[in-house]
Amino acid sequence: MLYEELASTYDRLESTSSRLEMTSILADFFRQVEASELRQVVYLTQGKLNPDHVTEKLGMADKMILKAIVDASRLQESYVNDLWMKEGDLGAVAEKVAAERVQTNLFSQPLTLDRVLTNLRSIEGAEGKNSQTKRIRLLTSLLHDASPLESRYLCRTVTGRMRVGAASMTILDALASAFGVKEDRQDIERAFNVSSDIGAVAESLARDGIEGVRGIDVQVGRPVRSMLAERLSSMEEILTKLGGRCALEYKYDGIRVQAHISEDEVKLYSRRLEDLTANFPDVVESLRSSFKGQAAIVEGECVPVDLKTGRLLPFQEVAHRRRKFGMEEAVRDYPVKIFLFDCLRMDEADMTLRPFSERRTALEENLEESEGLLFSRLEIVDSVAEAEDFFESALVAGCEGIMAKSLAENSVYRTGNRGFLWIKYKKDYRGDLNDSFDLVIVGAYTGKGKRKGLYGALLMAVHDPETGMFQTVCKLGSGFDDAFLAELPGMLEGHRSSGPSDLLSTRMEADHWFEPAIVLEVMGAEISVSPTHTAAEGLLPEGSGLAVRFPRFTGKVRDDKSAEQATNATELLTMYRGQTSTSDSGASAKF
Ligand code: ATP
Repeated sequence: MLYEELASTYDRLESTSSRLEMTSILADFFRQVEASELRQVVYLTQGKLNPDHVTEKLGMADKMILKAIVDASRLQESYVNDLWMKEGDLGAVAEKVAAERVQTNLFSQPLTLDRVLTNLRSIEGAEGKNSQTKRIRLLTSLLHDASPLESRYLCRTVTGRMRVGAASMTILDALASAFGVKEDRQDIERAFNVSSDIGAVAESLARDGIEGVRGIDVQVGRPVRSMLAERLSSMEEILTKLGGRCALEYKYDGIRVQAHISEDEVKLYSRRLEDLTANFPDVVESLRSSFKGQAAIVEGECVPVDLKTGRLLPFQEVAHRRRKFGMEEAVRDYPVKIFLFDCLRMDEADMTLRPFSERRTALEENLEESEGLLFSRLEIVDSVAEAEDFFESALVAGCEGIMAKSLAENSVYRTGNRGFLWIKYKKDYRGDLNDSFDLVIVGAYTGKGKRKGLYGALLMAVHDPETGMFQTVCKLGSGFDDAFLAELPGMLEGHRSSGPSDLLSTRMEADHWFEPAIVLEVMGAEISVSPTHTAAEGLLPEGSGLAVRFPRFTGKVRDDKSAEQATNATELLTMYRGQTSTSDSGASAKF
């Protein structure tokens, strides 16, 4: 297959923001791809070579890409540099340069998918002293033979920012449509959720049809997309929703970890499917010594503790464990315990389709508690009074609230989904609702006065999984301390874009724009209807969106969450509708 076919598909995808149209463009394309090539084509469409959980990442530094563009074009470096300053997007620079360059490459070969993949894999795998030069050479060689359009997407691929807007859910829709199994869309999504590997799902569908996809199950060594909780703001509502009786557990405030235990090794994955094994060697050891079976996947929260008093410490402390260097010191200085709360596989059994109580029993029967490994504190309740007592005890123990879990027959582990089988209830939810949101930075404003030379405020957004778009929800200027303000420019540098991201729907202006990547926890006093923000647009009357009023940064950077895992538009609308406070902003007119 020629790379040109991929590039022109990406170009068509980029020129539309309609999810339906994207689905149909992709479906038409997938129908033409050989089964043997579909897996790689799907990864490439997301700007990757591998499923999310594989550690190797393509990401080449901007400067190196620029060097390859210069080398391939033989144009002046200063000219290409100026173009970059103007365009902001290396893909656009490469495209312009390719269109302008003197046609010296008479012997250029059309780019095949195979050749592109071979070079990209070598770029990804390049190691050692000359790895930079090698990467530049490999990209230069591709750019030398690439058309302007191909150049755009080759450069975008190596930056890791494709900007074609093909979210996983759109790709799954397109696969269902391409292979004529729209009615089995749920099975395709489950296969993706249990394997976290959209390429494997695509290949299996192309080779073996829907039966192949149904055969994809939970495997040790392949992270499962996490089940997530809904929220309600009173214990009465929670009990009613869960049929008058439910399990309550402490909601620990740390890092969620999915542990894959086999006879040879223990691997830990984050909610973003990153490999965290090296960051928690103590947890690995606790799991290894406490497990009595052959193989398992279990989930828990790693929480920082004060070893002297035994008290649980604030979430921020565990961030020290996410560093790349000095792990030995971090393990010594920031001890953690793991509180296990679920079991997704036990030996040969896929536990995700079993009810909650069976999963909990499997956990307790196959692992032994130790100093560093405990089961989440659990109580079965059937009255509000009991539930309130349990909630108080959770706060006293240093937890942020409780998780209420359904005990119904159908209380399966809903991979990759947020639903009411789990309901979270935090101390913030009581009294005057002061809820927290996880919002994505999409823009910034130049600081003035005391913040001169820094960012003064940030433009924040929620995510809409239906459309794959981000939507603005507030301008955030409070809650920042000096250290954080100083850190921000560095944190955001790699995500700069020349204008609003293609994935952003905005009516706001900003001085600086960023691709959605960094998630901050924000408290707000109220959610109101706004003509300037776009959050939950499409779910509200035309021209209006939702805004978080009086937003304040809590100090928590949610680096355990990807931008797509931020608070979503529907959640925000639900919170808005559930808001108890009356408002002076017209927010009382509930939709
Ligand atoms: P939050 O921002 O409130 O932590 P979240 O958006 O990260 O929530 P949710 O699904 O809304 O994720 O809340 C569930 C999270 O709570 C889990 O991802 C997990 O990290 C954490 N947690 C702590 N204790 C438990 C428990 N006993 N059972 C399940 N999850 C727990």
